[in-house]
Parts: sequence; C-alpha cells; structure tokens
Amino acid sequence: MKMFAAALAIATALTGSAMAQSYPAKPITMIVPFAAGGPTDIIARFVGEHMSRSLGQTIVIENVAGAGGTTGITRAAGSPNDGYTIMMGHMGTHGAAPALYPGLKYDPTALVPVGIAASTPILIVGSNKLPPKTLQEFIAYAKANPDKLNQAHAGIGSVSHSTCVMLNVQLGIKPTAVPYTGTGPALNDMISGQVDYMCDQIVNLSEQIRAGNVRAYAIASPERSPALPDVPTTKEAGLPEYQVIAWNAIFAPVGTAPEITAKLNDALKKALADETTRGRLLNLGAVLPKENEQSQAFLGEFVKQEVARWTPILKAAK
Ligand code: ASP
Repeated sequence: MKMFAAALAIATALTGSAMAQSYPAKPITMIVPFAAGGPTDIIARFVGEHMSRSLGQTIVIENVAGAGGTTGITRAAGSPNDGYTIMMGHMGTHGAAPALYPGLKYDPTALVPVGIAASTPILIVGSNKLPPKTLQEFIAYAKANPDKLNQAHAGIGSVSHSTCVMLNVQLGIKPTAVPYTGTGPALNDMISGQVDYMCDQIVNLSEQIRAGNVRAYAIASPERSPALPDVPTTKEAGLPEYQVIAWNAIFAPVGTAPEITAKLNDALKKALADETTRGRLLNLGAVLPKENEQSQAFLGEFVKQEVARWTPILKAAK
C-alpha cells in the first residue's frame, strides 16, 4: 500500500513537471476583478496582449467584478492551480482587503506572486459640473456643502475607496459614497455629471483629463506626471500630506508550480521591456517597475508590507 502511494506520488510529480514543461498548451484566463475599461482592466489588457505573444497562447481577460475586487480574486484564488487561471490584483485586493473583510476567503500573502505590472499615481478628480476649479476651491466647497457632495468608488476596499477614505479623513468630510463595479463606469458617470468626485488611478484618467472632460485637482505623487504635466502635485496644491501611489500585479493560485509562474514572470518582463507596450502604459501615466522590482520575490515581500501598511490606516479610519 505504502509502495503504491509512493509510486502514485512520483507519477503525479512527473505529470506535474511534464505539464509545467509544455505550459502553456491552451489559452490562459486572467481574471480582472473590476469592470472592463477601468484602470486594472487597461493594464491587464496591455501587458496581457504582449504576454500572449511571447507565451504562444492567448491570455483571455475575464472581468469578474464585485465587493471591491474581492469577488474576482476569490474566484481566481479558488481556481485550479495549473497556470491556466491567473489574476490581476492590486493595492486594494492585495493590500487593503484583509483589513476590511474579516471573512476574506483568500490570503493575499499566500497567493503566488508573478510580478508587478504597473504602479499608478492617484489623482483627485472632479466633474466639470462641480463649481470648484482648483484643489483649494474643492476643499472649501466640500467643507461648505457636506450634504451635497457625492463620491464614486469601486466598492469597499478598492483603490478608489481606500484612497478616498484617506483623503476624506484628512479633510474631515463625509460625502455620500456611490459604489460602482469599477472606476471605468464611475468615470463615465462623472463625465456626464452624475457623480462629483473620486480618487482614481492615473491610467483611467489621463485621456479624459487631456480632453477636458473631467477636472484634475491634484496628483498625489511627489512629482508631476510626464503624462499630465499641467496637473499640480498635492504638495504644490497645498495638501502635502495626501500622498498615495497604487499598484497592479499578477498572481497565481496557491500551489501553482514554480516552473509555470517563472514562465509567466518571464513573459511579463518581456512585455515591460517592449517599446510599444511601455509606450502605451507610459502615455497613460503608469510608472513601470524597475528591473529589480520585476521579480516574483520582490512582489511577494511588497504584498506583505502593503497588508501591514494598510491595516492600521483603515482600522483607524473606521
Ligand atoms: N482598479 C479598479 C478598476 O479597475 C478601481 C479601484 O480599485 O478603485 O476599476
């Protein structure tokens, strides 16, 4: 019996490594835990397209929105760990969520890190229909009109939620929160004037800010973005304590073979080295990971730090 079990274990290990060697032999699903057209979706599609070419198999993006991204990540985390289902997580799903969802069904620090795709400075943006034109005017308006103001976000624990919690606590304001399945649809409603403001990742916003369809009050990074050189930093606009840059990164379910995740990491690095892919991301204001930030180990450590960083901030904000 023991011999049988040992033989079975060896056979399973051999099949596993043979599978890893021929990986990928069919299309890969990348779960994006927010609506199509938003920042996480944009980044997943840009890097996914180039990764598909280097892997020789299509990466199919599946948008599974809900509960600030935790619905999609829960689905991805519970999928077979054969490399054919991976996920694009971010600072919300893999940083803020554990503090906000006591019953969270996945442990962000246990998922297998593949690599950081892009960092995304946060901007405070408002509808053109809102009277204030500058950050200082916005702050005065928000304080004077506590009952009027509403703020969009992409669900509890999403980046737009947690970063605006930070902002609202700093300003001492309590707007009416309007949840969406992602900031893609939230931005559409802001353009048509149905919501007043939000805190969102730059890649979702650059084109609409350049076109004058929404107003950018400030960017919460230490320097201005080359993609939006006219938008002042929070420091320049008089709110230096509001500093926050989000990130988006690829993960695989617990137990995915290291040979497989190494292939995915390699494909991600190739995408980040490709001029066209880089150009598309940089044009929207993404900040790309430096070479030493592109490893699986770097992301693994980074996620641990992010969970530790966000837990006290969000617990205090409650
Ligand atoms: N990243 C989300 C999206 O793609 C939004 C968020 O986290 O705020 O829509």
